[in-house]
Amino acid sequence: MTTEPIVIKAIINGEKIETARTLPRENPTHPDTIVGYAPVNTKEETQRAIDAAYEAFKTWKWSDVDDRIARMERAIQKIKDSTDEIAEFLSREHGKALYDAKGEIAVSIMWMEFACNHVKNVVTPEVKEHENGKTIITFDPIGVVSAITPWNYPISLSTIKIAPALLTGNTMVLKPSPFAPLAVSKVCEIVADEFPPGVLNLVHGEADVGVELTSNEKIAKIAFTGGTKTAKSIIKAASETIKKMTLELGGNDAAIVLEDFDVNDEKALRRMVISNFLTAGQICMIAKRVYVHRSIYEQFVEKYIEAANKWIRVGDPFNPEVTVGPVNNKNQVKYVKSLVEDAKNKGCKVIPLGQIVNPELMDNGYFLQPTLVLGADYHDPIVVEEQFGPTVPIMPFDDEEQVIALHNESIYGLTSSVWGEEEHAVNVARRIEAGTTMINTAAIQGLDVRFPFGGVKQSGVGREYGEDGIKSYTETHVINIPKNLELPYIPE
Ligand code: NAD
Repeated sequence: MTTEPIVIKAIINGEKIETARTLPRENPTHPDTIVGYAPVNTKEETQRAIDAAYEAFKTWKWSDVDDRIARMERAIQKIKDSTDEIAEFLSREHGKALYDAKGEIAVSIMWMEFACNHVKNVVTPEVKEHENGKTIITFDPIGVVSAITPWNYPISLSTIKIAPALLTGNTMVLKPSPFAPLAVSKVCEIVADEFPPGVLNLVHGEADVGVELTSNEKIAKIAFTGGTKTAKSIIKAASETIKKMTLELGGNDAAIVLEDFDVNDEKALRRMVISNFLTAGQICMIAKRVYVHRSIYEQFVEKYIEAANKWIRVGDPFNPEVTVGPVNNKNQVKYVKSLVEDAKNKGCKVIPLGQIVNPELMDNGYFLQPTLVLGADYHDPIVVEEQFGPTVPIMPFDDEEQVIALHNESIYGLTSSVWGEEEHAVNVARRIEAGTTMINTAAIQGLDVRFPFGGVKQSGVGREYGEDGIKSYTETHVINIPKNLELPYIPE
């Protein structure tokens, strides 16, 4: 593949637009090299993209669902054919290991195919004959959707929105994060080329672009994935025009290890380690605090360190031995370091984990040695804040009531996991406040695109994935045809 910097263009009404300003995207493994340049769109260009989507919606909303599916399937095939090239860009701009980048594209394709195969179940009108006459229920597109996505899984968190929105007859303006704008733009380009001009538009930029995308009166729905703080600004910006919203936000997912967990189950420990350190810990649905029953705590920690030292191999994302690459950006490195430093200052034991495969890269790139934090107080920042990086605290607990209370006192509730004998674990899971709870696995390993995904409390509003995730791009329209047109209780 070329290592020359690529230049991404915005897509407005089917045209690739050059902008006056561009933003370089550095390579987190070698921050002195530029992977490519993303456009910086202005507020006016963003308005043009919204206008294009608004005009396109007038005809696209009447398009035939079979035609939409056929277009999406052609796009999926082209993404499949370009997987290697897209994954390499993603690794270079993001820092995630190449296998991880390929995994992200595979999950995206899996979901896009699910959406193609299930959209008809969702949008086919229901006709109900009943004692009062007949009712027709239709599931109509909403209008122009603005999609705003984060840097950690830029492709899957964009396609999770693009596929159901377009398949149900909406149009879209999408804005990726400036911290990983390149590979996702390639995917958007492939999809946009298969659809009529204006159906999928792509803009890049800073806060003014985001504000326009969340306040413009022509936007009917916002599909946002990102931080809870950003979501609060978005809700304010959208309040004037009461937009529909799906918000997938931050989390502080817990793993609860019960006394009947088998500490000698090496495969389970590997799954646990993966669920803490995949993508260098920068996943919303990764376990960010681990509670272990005191009766097995010492043995668990020993086995956990063994598994982590075997599985975590830090270095160049293109080195096939490497499982954990650098952190995506400088701010994130600083933030995670400050949490670990704070834990150290509070007297915690910080244990380095894993092998450093490419020591020559560590000082210059945005690398952090993964760490385990022991001895943290239940309410220390390392426990209650979303670290979003390669560090995890493990703490003992004494009984179920205590650990469930600790779990549920968080302002977040995205995913969680319970580890132990299945029936016991399910029993605990049922008392947990979260959108998804996984038994004896966690994070992406337990994700199933066929079922709804989303957070409770400040982790989000609404659901993506599953047929619920497709339906969230429709408005329910009820057409009533009553048999008795005159109501008996209204006087003549
Ligand atoms: P972020 O909130 O900083 O940015 C997300 C997107 O919002 C970016 O495209 C950004 O440019 C844009 N944005 C920033 N300010 C805006 C504004 N005022 N108006 C409109 N758009 C604005 O999040 P991030 O740092 O990119 O991603 C990390 C966060 O995302 C973490 O909190 C993580 O938990 C969360 N996340 C959640 C999920 C989920 O499914 N629940 C998935 C992945 C990431």
